[in-house]
Amino acid sequence: MTRIFLLLSCAVLTLEQFACKGEKPEANINSSSLHLAAQPVDSSLYQNLSDGELVYVLEPILIEGALRFSVDLTFKGDSTGSTTLMLPNQYSGHQDFDGIKDLQAISPATVLSNTDEPHRKKLAHAPRQVVHVKYQVAQLREGKIGLGNHYQVILRENYFHFLGGTFWVAPDWDDEKTIRVKLIWKKFPNDWTLVNSFGAGEKSQFIQAAFWKFRHSIWAGGDFRIYERRVMEHPVYIALRGEWNFSDEVFTETVAKIIKSERDFWKDYAFPYYLVTAIPMAGDDDQGGTGRINAFAMFLSDDRELDYRFKRLLAHEAFHTWNGAKIRRREPEVLVYWFSEGFSDYYARLLLLRAGLLTLEEYIQEYNKMLKRYFTSSARFAKNSRLLEASWSNELRQMPYYRGDIVAHNLNAQIRLATANSISLDDAMHKILDAAVQRGEVISDSSLYALFKSFAGENNVTKLRQSIDDGAPLRLAPNALGPCATLKMTTRRKYFLFGEKFAIPQYELKQSDGSSCVAWFHDQDKM
Ligand SMILES: [Zn+2]
Repeated sequence: MTRIFLLLSCAVLTLEQFACKGEKPEANINSSSLHLAAQPVDSSLYQNLSDGELVYVLEPILIEGALRFSVDLTFKGDSTGSTTLMLPNQYSGHQDFDGIKDLQAISPATVLSNTDEPHRKKLAHAPRQVVHVKYQVAQLREGKIGLGNHYQVILRENYFHFLGGTFWVAPDWDDEKTIRVKLIWKKFPNDWTLVNSFGAGEKSQFIQAAFWKFRHSIWAGGDFRIYERRVMEHPVYIALRGEWNFSDEVFTETVAKIIKSERDFWKDYAFPYYLVTAIPMAGDDDQGGTGRINAFAMFLSDDRELDYRFKRLLAHEAFHTWNGAKIRRREPEVLVYWFSEGFSDYYARLLLLRAGLLTLEEYIQEYNKMLKRYFTSSARFAKNSRLLEASWSNELRQMPYYRGDIVAHNLNAQIRLATANSISLDDAMHKILDAAVQRGEVISDSSLYALFKSFAGENNVTKLRQSIDDGAPLRLAPNALGPCATLKMTTRRKYFLFGEKFAIPQYELKQSDGSSCVAWFHDQDKM
């Protein structure tokens, strides 16, 4: 394991480009200099600005003792003389646009006005004029970081952490447009580390990416401990802070092992760079996480252990690197949550088993627990389209995870049965990734049904559709866990001896040779 001391060497990383050039060390975040207003930026940054280019200059400032970022944004305005500016919108139940403060147009003859949507503003300017706007980002959270507010921007005196979509203000360009971003972290405290979806330790960043990727990102800095591991020679950075019940080393090892197993699954090692952040939060055995471009973020209450739940979260979030980021969803995305969430749950458990981080007994136990939750859920007959409604019950929220997990098990069994084990669901997943990467295809429920039909047959997919679209009860494939597990029906009353009677299928492990039982789950062991 290599502990990266980001501040030590100019040769290793480019973080200290500024200091290495002989500039004087920058102010600590507590310094009174941070009370100063943002200073004008070097005008050479804006020379020869071309279409699709954004220049951001960020500076941490203290307002009444609270950390904010002052952000300068410059770009070439539209040839029509009007550009729509897009603010962070609503995410995870929060109005992130409320965190954008003092948005103002700075460039000459540039007029900023509201639209009827709070996350869109209009800019009037001369055609193709260089437009300069300025804003601050403030933390909206009151009190501690905890489940429910964990995806909101975190701005603390000693660190920050945010998702791109909750922070950046940008022109309303096409998601697929390739943009070039110059990013300057100005007056950044010298004792802070800096990591994000596009680099580690770089105070001056140049990013070229599809517009959506820039926003679908993770950004962090401050008193993080940063470690580097290598997977097929490519660096994986692990950034964590705070005190935990486990050592940094065990955490780092577990993360690296899971990431390797997922890249092995997808046969995709094209990750010149990857980041995992872990943020401590208040709570009782709570955890949450989200995958983004080149990165995923974990939020854990400080009493968490490296147990199955923890590994499952890591594996699930890492899987979103492909299923969610590389394989993108057509709007409304909630209609394919059964695939993006449920299949990620299925593969999280499966890849932990393949990596030796989970036993077959634990696999069956965990799948049975999920089956119990599905077959006793009051939302199990709900149509998928109910996810389009404004508010979800907890039961409804979980339904895509359960359905997708069961559907993935069934499809895998059906495909293997139909092809004498020559192919499996893994092959369908690889095909979906190929279509996304090579042809830019975006998945929808109908594209997935069509694809699965070609693998599992029309009959199976018709039943699958009825269960997902219309809420028809799912039936389990008896052979879904291989030759060593059998399916049995159990029953349970809602309230001990009375109330609704539930029929709950459960898998049982037959007495058999353990290693050959697990071998069935390995793709390479298929005939
Ligand atoms: Zn997920």
